[in-house]
Amino acid sequence: FFSLGPPLELEDHEDHKSRLPSPGHDPQEQQPAEGIESCIGNTPLIEIRSLSKATGRTILAKAEFLNGVGNSPKDRVALNMIREAERNGLLVPHRGDTIYEGTVGSTGISLAALARARGYKAHICMPDDQALEKSDLLHHLGATVERVAVAPITSPDHFVNLARRRAYDHAGNAADGSRGFFANQFESEANWHAHLTATGPEIWKQTGGHLDAFVAGAGTGGTISGVARYLKMEANAGAVRIVLADPQGSGLYNKIKHGVMYSPTEREGTRRRQQVDSMVEGIGINRITDNFEAGRDLIDDAVKVTDGQACRMARWLVENDGIFVGSSSSVNCVAAVMTAMSLPEGSRVVTILCDSGTRHLSKFWKRIKEMGLEDEDATNLFVELGV
Ligand code: PMP
Repeated sequence: FFSLGPPLELEDHEDHKSRLPSPGHDPQEQQPAEGIESCIGNTPLIEIRSLSKATGRTILAKAEFLNGVGNSPKDRVALNMIREAERNGLLVPHRGDTIYEGTVGSTGISLAALARARGYKAHICMPDDQALEKSDLLHHLGATVERVAVAPITSPDHFVNLARRRAYDHAGNAADGSRGFFANQFESEANWHAHLTATGPEIWKQTGGHLDAFVAGAGTGGTISGVARYLKMEANAGAVRIVLADPQGSGLYNKIKHGVMYSPTEREGTRRRQQVDSMVEGIGINRITDNFEAGRDLIDDAVKVTDGQACRMARWLVENDGIFVGSSSSVNCVAAVMTAMSLPEGSRVVTILCDSGTRHLSKFWKRIKEMGLEDEDATNLFVELGV
């Protein structure tokens, strides 16, 4: 097993002070930014020092919770979907248009805030098993929120199908000339394109092209597909391993490993199950979306992460790095460690920190407390991960 070693040395006070940004130094920095949209993107790539130390590899994470509108990578996606709809005349500011979306929360939050900023209304359909923080936030952002019972994608009442139907009904019936626009993050190209044109290039630049693996979970699949396509096809970094981090209950792991969503040994009943049996929110799915399909061929491997491992990792990150994240970020970090251990010492692995733990207090973090993990030694987790 490893030791974290002595605490990091604090930087020399004067030296540290001299490197703080000095207001007024760079005339560019004095320019006021135009609207909330300018708080999106260019997120820092941070080293998770405790994980680097534990693995003998470098673990880097894109701090996507720092996107400044909805505090997740979905800010990039929401803005891109809205901009494309505006370019195509599907949304016109201040015409009374409404953006409809089916989302487990993050995309809805970004859309709802950006809708306000750009002269639209937002109508969000989401499953009722997601953390209440998200629907409360949507309400306060002024969105209409429909929390619906969990249903299979084949049901007309699945949250995505409901959002599509609401948009269609609006489009056909508005006497005031307003339109309904179904954002459609699961199938829209504007989703993975946001990561192809921004998240991917940012990672490439921030690592100086020096990375050995990129690890991410998939909800819509937009992040992993967009980043993978940039790295492998635009930057010609064919050797970078693209690894899917999949929570328990999701079918994507089997799709990547065996080409089918479920192993043939599983019961027929399980085969038809649509919901992901995990407390993790935002990643893991039992169907192939267009966004996942866009990068599927570029994914080299997949790792399966249990809820227990995700909970233990979340605690570890707080305790050792002061990083307080939600469940999908935690799954990504578990998978990043597993991937790192399969690579030679000194390798560099990049993953994503999707959102803050503050959005998961009532579910994920409550569960961590209930499981009595707050005081638990994380040794077992790292042994389990092959460290
Ligand atoms: N983390 C969270 C918290 C999310 O809401 C999502 C999107 N559903 C993801 C990760 C996964 O991102 P993507 O949709 O790009 O696969």
